[in-house]
Amino acid sequence: MTRQYELVERVLSYQPNADEALLNRAYVYAMKAHGNQKRASGAPYFSHPLEVAAILAEMRLDDATIATALLHDTIEDTDTTRGEIDALFGREIGTLVDGLTKIKKLDLVTKKAEQAENFRKLLLAISSDIRVLLVKLADRLHNMRTLEHVKPAKRKIIAEETMDIYAPLAGRMGMQWLREELEDHAFAWLNPEAHSAVVERLKILRERNQGLIDEIEIALTTKLEEADVASIVAGREKKPYAIWSKMERKQISLEQLSDIYAFRIVVPQVEDCYRALSVVHTTWHAVPGRFKDYISNPKQNDYQSIHTTIVGPRHQRVELQIRTERMHSVAEYGVAAHALYKDANGSHAPKGVVPSQDSNAYRWLRHLVGMLLDGDNPEEFLEHTKLELFQDQVFCFTPKGRLIALPRGANPIDFAYAVHTDIGNTCVGAKINGRPMPLVTELRNGDEVEIVCSKAQLPPSAWQSIAVTGKARSAIRRATRDAVRAQYGKLGREILVRAFQRREKTFSEESIALALGRLSQKTAEDVMAAVGRGELASADVVRAVFPEETPVEPPKRRRKVKRTEEGWFGLGKVMGLKFRWPGSSERPRQDGPSGIPIRGLRGDLPVSFADGGAVPGDRIVGILTPGQGITIYPIHAEALKAFDEEPERWIDVTWDIGEDNPQRFPAKIAVTALNEPGSLAQVAAVIGEADGNIDNIKMTNRVPDYTEILIDLEVWDLKHLNDILAGLRAKDVVSSAARASG
Ligand code: MN
Repeated sequence: MTRQYELVERVLSYQPNADEALLNRAYVYAMKAHGNQKRASGAPYFSHPLEVAAILAEMRLDDATIATALLHDTIEDTDTTRGEIDALFGREIGTLVDGLTKIKKLDLVTKKAEQAENFRKLLLAISSDIRVLLVKLADRLHNMRTLEHVKPAKRKIIAEETMDIYAPLAGRMGMQWLREELEDHAFAWLNPEAHSAVVERLKILRERNQGLIDEIEIALTTKLEEADVASIVAGREKKPYAIWSKMERKQISLEQLSDIYAFRIVVPQVEDCYRALSVVHTTWHAVPGRFKDYISNPKQNDYQSIHTTIVGPRHQRVELQIRTERMHSVAEYGVAAHALYKDANGSHAPKGVVPSQDSNAYRWLRHLVGMLLDGDNPEEFLEHTKLELFQDQVFCFTPKGRLIALPRGANPIDFAYAVHTDIGNTCVGAKINGRPMPLVTELRNGDEVEIVCSKAQLPPSAWQSIAVTGKARSAIRRATRDAVRAQYGKLGREILVRAFQRREKTFSEESIALALGRLSQKTAEDVMAAVGRGELASADVVRAVFPEETPVEPPKRRRKVKRTEEGWFGLGKVMGLKFRWPGSSERPRQDGPSGIPIRGLRGDLPVSFADGGAVPGDRIVGILTPGQGITIYPIHAEALKAFDEEPERWIDVTWDIGEDNPQRFPAKIAVTALNEPGSLAQVAAVIGEADGNIDNIKMTNRVPDYTEILIDLEVWDLKHLNDILAGLRAKDVVSSAARASG
């Protein structure tokens, strides 16, 4: 285990102005915070953040990054809070540690390979500072180095995630050694047979080619020295995963595998690269088609080198990379390397790898982020060369770990529709990160969203204005339209059943279907919906089905029909209303038409209240209006007189209020009060204390000294309303208070 002073000295060796006290403080704080916690291996937990810090010190990162590494698991795994980190180490480190905490929350979610790209975007969106990603990669590297202590099931998830997400991320950030090591650890756990086969083969080749690496190194060095090119030559065996993926790519077997050695020639200056190249090519044969000049054409992740393959001293194919020291550093350390070099302006990036806004290095950073985004698509890459890349997107998860990308500002309704239209249509609530939250809550990156569904639910049309995504909006519109149509259909069906009964006929959809031509309708559903909307008279439908029969005399105005409980059957619950149809002597039929399932639709119901409102306790009646459905009036309403001559439109309804589902209903009252300061406040206070809701208030001065106040209320029932009126009348400022009809 790295010791405290070793770590601090290592940082000071490459960053002489590093804050030594900060590093010591972070070391001691993290050690205490993790206390007796143990890793899966049984080692003290603190050994983990310490090793992560050591990896980053090897990469020569700044003091803030090293301190962040030491603290990276404290918020998530100990009692430490963000506030404490801010207070003790400053906001910069607080923000970095917070970024790592957010990423860690995503660790145990499974990520499918096809979502890897989205997940990398999420990582970038969360990591506003590139140092967060660097610490995360070092964290993952140490976890992969110690993966054998983790339970097999979890081990597989972590290895897959490393292969799909983190190794490519390291590659795109230009850190080849990190990418290779991550890939190799993951490969060993994900495909142990292939891994050991490659390792075995390497062992055989190593024995057969004993001394070959040394031999080639010496030959290359000698030739370069003769030509007066200063160089460091280093040979290495390729990593098992790199060999394996090459075999897969080129469809070759292990037996055919020969070029497992790679050599690197590192020289001081760019022109030395080309001099070294000419030495190599004039000494040995170059393999055709293997020469690539990434110095004049760098890769998108800033990688530069000359690649070539020669037929070496023992007729062995040898891969060569020729590069300068700086190029080598960029290739190995990628983003981290840029901290070590002065940019073109000659100014040194002041802190680690996050340079000030206007330096070249900042431009380079933007370039990097763009490149991380779309490594393979140059056009999109150009579009995205902004750091604010993901400001317009949020990435959230389903409880099963599916990643859902949404536009910024999206809420759980959008999320539900993005998962599946059926989920959206039946959504009644949402839990965000395990807590029930309102459906209008704006989602944030990394939120886990669980949608609560109910079969009986239909999306309220008001959601159309709440939803942000077009997909959700159009699905809500469609569902609302279908539901309204279904409601009209059911309403029409009830009206027709009654109309047939009055003529002592049995209603059936089949008989309607036979009369479609005479009704100029396409389907029986269309007929029922048209009747429900009031566009087609039920008598016309009966006539069309039984053209030979003379119509029975139209029924008396239903208002005068004696209301008995027998002989009425329910049409169902509609906003606490049960529709009952008078005139039949039949008992309610068990197999009769079921209720209209329109709970929750509110504004789109074919049922609405007349202007004066109606409350439970009032005797009420419904009036069917073409295109508008049923309007509910209290039986005493003046407005009903207008429908006296249209008995076909009268529909009887009764209240059906369940105790388990209390609802408020609209009522309008008129209060005459003294025109003096405070009288309105007294009126409002009476209503409020009695648990009434005021929807709207309108004031007029008809008489001097008095104000007439028209109030739209919401109350539980008639008794509640009467209590409020009595309370108002008891006030000295109130001269009268009464129901007002619309
Ligand atoms: Mn960790």
